[in-house]
Amino acid sequence: MGDNRVVLVTGAGRGIGKEIALKFAKNNYDVSVNYRSKTDELDELKKEIEKNGVKCALVQGDVANFEEAERIVNETVEKLGKIDVLVNNAGITKDGLLMRMSKDDFEKVLDINLIGTFNVTRNVIPLMIKQKSGRIINISSVVGVVGNAGQTNYSASKAGIIGFTKSLAKEVASRNILVNAVAPGFIATDMTSVLSDSVKENINNQIPLRKMGTAEDVAKVVSFLASEDSSYITGQVINVDGGMVM
Ligand code: NDP
Repeated sequence: MGDNRVVLVTGAGRGIGKEIALKFAKNNYDVSVNYRSKTDELDELKKEIEKNGVKCALVQGDVANFEEAERIVNETVEKLGKIDVLVNNAGITKDGLLMRMSKDDFEKVLDINLIGTFNVTRNVIPLMIKQKSGRIINISSVVGVVGNAGQTNYSASKAGIIGFTKSLAKEVASRNILVNAVAPGFIATDMTSVLSDSVKENINNQIPLRKMGTAEDVAKVVSFLASEDSSYITGQVINVDGGMVM
């Protein structure tokens, strides 16, 4: 087993999670890429990660299911030896006005975004307590801070992640485990590609930096929160949003 630090990134097959996985590989971490659906892109991603001279484990599993979350964590440890950093990134949207929202659409978003974050974290914390160190970075959203019409389910899940982050940070600080959240604004990925050009232009006009962010903009902050440079930061929410929310 090598001496590299190990990161587990959930929902890392594409989008922001994929960029986070690549960033950690460049920083010399062995990377466990959790994915839900198998795609050809995954083998390419594994190769790209390994080009940095680090190990990569591809670990299938649905974070919304507690037993699968347990298996994702166990498989990561079997293949890479330990978990130093957990990034809870897996997330979905199912937008719609509350008036028309089904209970199923409300629950699905909560199940993956919030309960999924609990499921994986619950299985990682005992390992981090045992090794007397760890970093957990949860991907929230600025809409969890300020709300957004048409996203009651998503905003509730992302606000929940913020409360979860702060409470856990207080619980485990004495164990040398730091827990923070990153709240991205409007980032160019599949999640936002479904929006029409006029909606995108409207949103851009509300961003002081006048442009969408990139997945790499988010990955850089996640990488900082895993590094020694952030060793006195815990329980915080860092917005990565071009100044959209102040
Ligand atoms: P994408 O839709 O591009 O990617 C989401 C990823 O999560 C996919 O890899 C998806 O896997 C995975 N995923 C979904 N459900 C599960 C599950 N149950 N178990 C495991 N993996 C799952 O989204 P982004 O990259 O844009 O978003 C990543 C995170 O950032 C999310 O938490 C999102 O809420 C958050 N965020 C994004 C913003 C944006 O503007 N893009 C803004 C603010 C926050 P699969 O391929 O199988 O679907």
